Amino acid sequence: MGDDCIFCKIVKGELPSKKILENEGFIVIMDANPKSKGHCLVVPKVHYETFLDMPAEKYESFLRTARMAVVIILKEVRGEGFNFLLNNYGAAGQDVPHVHMHIIPRKRSDKVKLWDF
Ligand code: 5GP
Ligand code: ZN
Repeated sequence: MGDDCIFCKIVKGELPSKKILENEGFIVIMDANPKSKGHCLVVPKVHYETFLDMPAEKYESFLRTARMAVVIILKEVRGEGFNFLLNNYGAAGQDVPHVHMHIIPRKRSDKVKLWDF
């Protein structure tokens, strides 16, 4: 699995992306269709379809990476808050079957609708 996966292709550099952070296990890229300014995605380098497929040993580094990205991106866009969003399976709005955490910067005045996925 992974040959036709857009996020695997991004990880391998076969498709372009705007990367804001990279470490041993993850990349953080800007979302191509952002819900708000600074919307980015934490993507494991290894292909797991959903959160349930990711081994528990990766939970901490996944969240640590997300936290680092939040600090960077909120400063960049002067965000006043942020949402973490992790869609699992098509029924829950997962369009890309390679697990990823959305980081969606928020402002009090924004009109972001998270349920529009
Ligand atoms: P999902 O619906 O699976 O939770 O979210 C998929 C996200 O990936 C969407 O927010 C969508 O805009 C983003 N996305 C889809 N294709 C690409 C791509 O090729 N590059 C990037 N950077 N984001 C993508
Ligand atoms: Zn993949």
